[in-house]
Amino acid sequence: MKILFFADLHQDSGAISQIAVLLKDVDYGFGLGDYASFGTGLQDTLDHLDVGKELYLLPGNHDDAEELKIICLEHDRFHYLHGEHITLDKITFGGLGGGLPGLPFAVTEENARRILERFYYLENLILCTHTPPYGTNVDLTWNGSHIGYHSVRDFVIEVQPLGVYSGHVHEAEGKTDWLKGTELVVVGRYGLIVDIDS
Ligand SMILES: [Zn+2]
Repeated sequence: MKILFFADLHQDSGAISQIAVLLKDVDYGFGLGDYASFGTGLQDTLDHLDVGKELYLLPGNHDDAEELKIICLEHDRFHYLHGEHITLDKITFGGLGGGLPGLPFAVTEENARRILERFYYLENLILCTHTPPYGTNVDLTWNGSHIGYHSVRDFVIEVQPLGVYSGHVHEAEGKTDWLKGTELVVVGRYGLIVDIDS
């Protein structure tokens, strides 16, 4: 099963065009948030990504989560993934969107923990998060500070999912790290195609 992960498009027309092209070659697309910039441009960005493929979409901290939910309700192939999980070819993808308070869609650590609890006992789990786990290579900013979620870190150490795909930290685009036995990846705005075998 070929999956395209992408994140942090922020209305960037070059990145949006590339994602639209790459989507044609995969089975499913997973958007890990921040299609908009400060709440603007969500619908327009997603219109460009409507190329006939099923898309599973998280809201990032820049997106209006309610707007994304409505877009997904009104569109057959767009699926809202925040707080939800979907099983495709025996692999289950759990979704946690948003970021720490400050921008349009805030999810506190406490709420993130509550959402992650839903995924504790799922088998063959891949965790899709907008915000990466705290204290790793994938949440490290240019000034050396870590901006990830402690709740995601604790979940990964305890549950050890098959993988964690995230966005949010632009300077960490393409970086990977490991937490216990789980590989962590920042997918970035130009996308990452992963061949996942069940
Ligand atoms: Zn973000």
